[in-house]
Amino acid sequence: MTSYNTPGKTFVPDPRIQYIRAGNEPAVFKAKWVIKDPWTILENAGIAVAGGRITAVLDTVPSGPSVTDCGPGILMPPLVNAHMHLELSALAHRLPLGKGFEPWVKALLTARDSLGASALIRAARHAVQALPGQGTGLVGEVSTLGLTRSLLTDQGMAGVWFQEYLGTGYPAPDLAADFPLSGSAAGHAPHTTSPDLLKYLKNRTQKAGLVFSIHVAESDAEMRFIKGNNRSWHDFLIQRGIDPKDWPVGNKTPVTYLKDLGILGPHTLAVHLLQVLDTDLDLLADTQTGICLCPRSNQNLHNRIPDIPALLKRHLRPALGTDSLASCASLSLFDEMAFVRHLCPEVSPADIFAMATKNGASALGLADRFGTLSPGKQSEFIYLDTGVSSRNQVLEKVICYGTC
Ligand SMILES: [Zn+2]
Repeated sequence: MTSYNTPGKTFVPDPRIQYIRAGNEPAVFKAKWVIKDPWTILENAGIAVAGGRITAVLDTVPSGPSVTDCGPGILMPPLVNAHMHLELSALAHRLPLGKGFEPWVKALLTARDSLGASALIRAARHAVQALPGQGTGLVGEVSTLGLTRSLLTDQGMAGVWFQEYLGTGYPAPDLAADFPLSGSAAGHAPHTTSPDLLKYLKNRTQKAGLVFSIHVAESDAEMRFIKGNNRSWHDFLIQRGIDPKDWPVGNKTPVTYLKDLGILGPHTLAVHLLQVLDTDLDLLADTQTGICLCPRSNQNLHNRIPDIPALLKRHLRPALGTDSLASCASLSLFDEMAFVRHLCPEVSPADIFAMATKNGASALGLADRFGTLSPGKQSEFIYLDTGVSSRNQVLEKVICYGTC
C-alpha cells in the first residue's frame, strides 16, 4: 500500500498563503488573478468589501488609498474542510497505516486513551491555529470526546461542530444554529450507532435547522454487517453492551439502510461513500443528500478512494475533508486537492476546486457566507503568492499547489 502520511508539515502554516479577514471599513483588495468561483477567473481584478461582507467583484480596480494590492498571485475563496477530527491531532504519525482498518482503530483507541485529554487538547489547539495559514476558513469538525468546540470558538473559526454519538441512548446534544460556529450532532456510522439513536439525532438536528453528519459506506465490517453477514461485528456489539437484534439490517447497503431510516436528505452530510453501488448514488442524488469525501484518509486506511467521476456524472457535488491526522498527513485542503488531481486526472480542475470551496460550504449549510467570492459573502479570502502567466493555468496551479 502506498502511504500518503508524510511527517513534517502537520502544524505548519504556509508562508505563501495569506488569510485575509477584512474589517468593517470599506476597502478593496486586488490581485493579478481573482478566482470568483470555480468557473470565473478574473485578471487584474479586485474584491470590494464593507461591513464584513463582500460588496462587489471588480473587473477593473481604481487606484486609491483604500486599495490593497495583494500582488501578482491569486485571490480566492477560503478553503472548506468539511470533515475532520481535531481531537485526534495528537495521534499524528503515531499509528500504523497500511495494516488494515481494524488494527488501526484498535491502535487509535489505545493511543488516544493513553495520551489523555490535556495532550489531545494541546495538539488540537496547534492544529486549529494552523488552519488559516493553510488556507482553511470553514470547517466541519466531528468530536467524540467533546474537546474541540471551545478551541474553534477561541480561534474565531467558522463552521459546524458536531458532537458525535455511538451506541444507544437518547443524549441531549447542545445544538445551536450560530455564526461563526454552529453546534450540531453526528452519528458515528450505521453499524456502530443504533437506528433509534440515528433517527433521534437526525430529528433533533433537523428541527434545529442544522446539518447532521455520519460516516457511511467506509469499512468492510460495516458493509457486511448491514448486509446481514457479519456475526463477529454482531458479537462485538453485544460485548459492548449493545444488542443489535432489532436493528433492521439484512440485504441492504449502508445507503439504503439510512434511506429506510429516513436519515438521507439535503441536511444530512454522508461522509466517505467508499463502497457504493450505482443505485446508492441514484438514491443520494434523488434525496439531495450532502456528500463529503476524504480520499487521502481512505487511501491510507483502505487502499482505495471513492469513485469521484461516478459521483460527478450523477451531478452529485462532493465536498472534501481530510479526516484526522491519525489517518492523514495534514489538514490542508491544498494537499487534499493535489491528491485528487494526482489520482483522478480525468476530473476537471474546476470540479476539484469546487469540492474544496463551493461544495463544502453548501454541505455545511453555509453557502450564503462561504464558497465563492460573491457579493454578500463574508469578507474573507486567501491570497496565494504564486505566479501564473495565463488564465487557463490558474486553477491548475491552485489544485496542484499542495503536496500528496
Ligand atoms: Zn471521520
